[in-house]
Amino acid sequence: MTDHEIKISFTEYDSVEQLPAADRQLCHEAVRALINSHSPYSKFKVGAALLLQSGKIIHGSNQENVAYPSGLCAERTALFNWGANYPGDPIQAIAVTAHTDDFELVRPVTPCGSCLQVMAECEKMQQQPMRILLYCQNGPVWITSGVESFLPFLFFEERLATR
Ligand SMILES: [Zn+2]
Repeated sequence: MTDHEIKISFTEYDSVEQLPAADRQLCHEAVRALINSHSPYSKFKVGAALLLQSGKIIHGSNQENVAYPSGLCAERTALFNWGANYPGDPIQAIAVTAHTDDFELVRPVTPCGSCLQVMAECEKMQQQPMRILLYCQNGPVWITSGVESFLPFLFFEERLATR
């Protein structure tokens, strides 16, 4: 029997104002992405912004549906937009933020497992990690250098990808 331990690390900034300018700008782009959130059911808006190597910004926001499982998270609307339209332009970073009028958010919202798995696939496609910035508008910003910090046991099987 062998016990294993995995450590993850992330960087916390107390507020967005402390970030380097490029990171701060991407967080503000995530806030702009909130505008097109379609979230009449949860009233919980999520915005995502991708920074591509070319400098292009892609917005995503959660898109809910009256048939609940038909909706999609903000991160995946942005990532699938990238995959469908800009796969040759690597994603350098993704910023995610959220807003609701129902209660105050005091820490960053973290991506769901499905979005982390899709981020992992995007990293494999572009053969480089993407920085992940999780931005709480009235609180801290958490940053990691890639998805593996959040999903160390991500599903990937090389033999499936080479077919
Ligand atoms: Zn998600």
